[in-house]
This record gives sequence, C-alpha cells and structure tokens, in this order.
Amino acid sequence: MCIFCKIINNEVPCQKVYEDKDVLAFLDIHPKSNGHTLVVPKKHSENIFDIPNSDLQKVIDVAQKISLDLKHKNNLQGVNFLNSSGAWAGQEVMHYHLHIIPRYENDGL
Ligand code: 5GP
Ligand code: ZN
Repeated sequence: MCIFCKIINNEVPCQKVYEDKDVLAFLDIHPKSNGHTLVVPKKHSENIFDIPNSDLQKVIDVAQKISLDLKHKNNLQGVNFLNSSGAWAGQEVMHYHLHIIPRYENDGL
C-alpha cells in the first residue's frame, strides 16, 4: 500500500487540515512555506493521467476551500497549486496529490 493510502487509513500519522468521505488534506512533512498542504483523493489514483474526473473535481473544490481559509487566517499574499504527474516530472509519491503552497511577502520561494 502506498504511503498516502496508509495516511488515509490512519496507519501513518499526519496533521489533518480537512477531511470528508472522498478527500483528505494534510500538511506536507517538508513544507516549502507555512501552511503547505497536500490534497489527495481517498481512492488511490497515481496521477493526472488516471485520476477519475469526479475525484479531480472534488480535490480542486477542497483546494479552493482551503485556500480561502488560509487567506482569511494567515496573512498570505497568494498561493501556488502544484501537481507533478510522472517520475520524469518529479513525482515522488505515486498517489495523486495537489500541493497548496501559500505565498508570503519575502518568502524567498
Ligand atoms: P511530489 O511527489 O509532489 O514531488 O512530492 C511529494 C510530497 O509529499 C513532498 O513534498 C513530501 O514532502 C511529501 N511527503 C512525502 N511523504 C510524506 C509523508 O509521509 N507525510 C507527509 N505529510 N508528507 C509527505
Ligand atoms: Zn495510494
């Protein structure tokens, strides 16, 4: 079972940001900025090439909710969404995930 499936099954701990029956969001273990969050479908898909469109829609809806939440709570100036699909594109964990990377003034990223 992949590492994100283990997180979804509560076999590996994480800092949960959001959860519903189809989607989980949790903090990245190596954050690029404060609040760096990963949004994943609970049903395993590898990447953009095999994720069902309905799961992708749910992930992006949650990503927007979290972005709005971060905008209200943290004093962020912007946000980057990142998805790497395929090893050649730098994908390390082979379970679809959308990065939400909050951007702050002078964050150096
Ligand atoms: P990518 O596949 O998009 O290149 O990178 C995978 C991302 O998952 C990395 O940013 C890495 O820090 C994060 N990551 C890998 N393993 C774990 C883990 O066990 N827990 C959490 N919270 N994040 C992880
Ligand atoms: Zn998985």
